[in-house]
Amino acid sequence: MVDILIIGAGPAGLTAAIYACRAEKSTLVLEAKSYGGQIINTPDIANYPVAPNISGFEFATTLYNQAKDLGAQFKFEKAVSIEDGEVKRVHTAQNTYEARAVILATGAENRKLGIEGEDTLVGKGVSYCATCDGNFFRKKDVAVAGGGNTAVEDALYLADLANTVYLIHRRDSFRADAALVSRLKAKENVHFVLNSNVTKLVAEGRLQAVEVTDKNTGEKTTLPIQGLFVAVGQVPENENFKSLVELDAGGYAVAGENCRTKTPGVFVAGDNRTKEVRQLVTAAADGAVAATEAIRFLGS
Ligand code: NAP
Repeated sequence: MVDILIIGAGPAGLTAAIYACRAEKSTLVLEAKSYGGQIINTPDIANYPVAPNISGFEFATTLYNQAKDLGAQFKFEKAVSIEDGEVKRVHTAQNTYEARAVILATGAENRKLGIEGEDTLVGKGVSYCATCDGNFFRKKDVAVAGGGNTAVEDALYLADLANTVYLIHRRDSFRADAALVSRLKAKENVHFVLNSNVTKLVAEGRLQAVEVTDKNTGEKTTLPIQGLFVAVGQVPENENFKSLVELDAGGYAVAGENCRTKTPGVFVAGDNRTKEVRQLVTAAADGAVAATEAIRFLGS
């Protein structure tokens, strides 16, 4: 049995591990994929205090090593359920782990467009990660779907690699920061396709084109492209734990700034928590708060 079990090795979970270890609590981190969470796909983190121009990979690796060096244990297994009690029993497909407190730092996964063929074309023209897959589309024509920071950053990144980039967004105003949108507008090979949705993927083995439909006029246009980068936000990964935590309409775990959930000894930190600002810096802050609250809980 460990004192604190953290589910998720993204910036929130790894920061929580640092705080838990420094308080001399035995700490186990469970991670379904690889450490780092979503930030690992960011080529250049420009807005984290005192770490300008660091890559997501370097940031995540440094953070992971910091937590490991302080004594955090890691198991790369997916937590599928938690049994509550004075001792919490966390089940993965392979094992059951016991802990006195649990921090849910599961983050979020990419939202899908939900159109026919999307799943089968992943790796054949459809991607959710421009920095991972952008290189395959050098000098090709691509599109990015979405209007948030991820979509605009992806389009900026792809504009330097690809021949033409279409930014397809369902509205004519952006969630993305104005400065990013201005930078994108200055790129000559970027075309904005606004008030439009991707309504069809045209493929023969690989993606060949997308059909977009103008929301206002209903007009359909076919854009011949080889790559579609889907960047339409994230879905929080809380489903497996909904018996222990209250979820809001968007599926986020309801908790205030103290990261406490309705279940004593279960805390939530990072992008899967209800909050106003989902950023690297707020994920790290959540990790610190959740671990501090868990340490307090153990002492009570
Ligand atoms: P987001 O801000 O939630 O934006 C998602 C975008 O996708 C929105 O423009 C939304 O349109 C659109 N969308 C959602 N569902 C759609 C659907 N079914 N079909 C078509 N379009 C759809 O997501 P994000 O860009 O991934 O960013 C997530 C968080 O990370 C944000 O807080 C963001 O600021 C942060 N982030 C920050 C940075 C940075 O600071 N450098 C970089 C990346 C991400 P509507 O606008 O019409 O809703």
